Amino acid sequence: MTLKDGERVHLVDRKGRVYALTLRAGKIHQHSGQTIAHDALIGLQDGSSVTLSGGAKFVVLRPTLAEYIMKMPRGAQVIYPKDLATILVWADVYPGATVVEAGIGSGALTMTLLRAVGESGRVVSYEIRDDFAERALENIERYLGKVGHHVLHRKDIALGIEEQDVDRVVLDLPEPWRVVPEAVRALRSGGIFLSYLPTVPQVVQVVEALQGSGAFGMIETFETLQRPWNIEGRSVRPALRMVAHSAFLTVARKLAAPVVIDPDDVPEGR
Ligand code: SAH
Repeated sequence: MTLKDGERVHLVDRKGRVYALTLRAGKIHQHSGQTIAHDALIGLQDGSSVTLSGGAKFVVLRPTLAEYIMKMPRGAQVIYPKDLATILVWADVYPGATVVEAGIGSGALTMTLLRAVGESGRVVSYEIRDDFAERALENIERYLGKVGHHVLHRKDIALGIEEQDVDRVVLDLPEPWRVVPEAVRALRSGGIFLSYLPTVPQVVQVVEALQGSGAFGMIETFETLQRPWNIEGRSVRPALRMVAHSAFLTVARKLAAPVVIDPDDVPEGR
């Protein structure tokens, strides 16, 4: 599949620096006083090498979802790719699933969920801020095009989840414990609740809310660390910088009958 008019692409220089642009026939891309016509990029294969007017060399690539997310316009803090990847498996997001999420933020998680559930599934986002909602919708359409399996409610999710028999509820907002009663009502039995929280007091509060509801079992909390490595000749070692903290994931399973699970009974891992 060659690069098309209207598509988002990344130009990557020799040092790995990334510049994002949207291809438009007839337009000229400017970079440090050098230029290249968009028409020279349209029709190229993904991964082609190109040279600007002054000789600077770049590779032109269709961004992966993770690359796109890191370069797209952001208002709210997006979820990092390492956490997006983990969320998909720990919330067990599958093709055809109905997933309720809040808030939409910049749309990073929304896009990840939309791809994972596919067109036979559905992602329902709740968001209280119109400015974030607008930017997120633009970000989503720029990468995924028009999607028919996304619904947005512009409201506080704690005031009510309109959907029933939901497969997964995924929350990236500051007070997910306020949403636990609604998640209990909306989730089908066997459904999964997942929250993404940056601080420990928040995690304690959501876990206590999940335990107190009596509706959840298999409640677990963890974090993941991604440590990049430098592999260059004999310099084979961890990189000098890393993102040392993003957030804790808390995952819980909705049970069929109201029961109180003794946290000491929950097995380590799964
Ligand atoms: N997951 C998003 C980032 C979310 S940032 C991404 O990957 O891009 C948190 C968002 O939650 C913000 O947009 C904020 O406005 C919204 N929010 C906070 N509380 C909310 C609530 N009670 N209901 C709905 N949205 C809420």
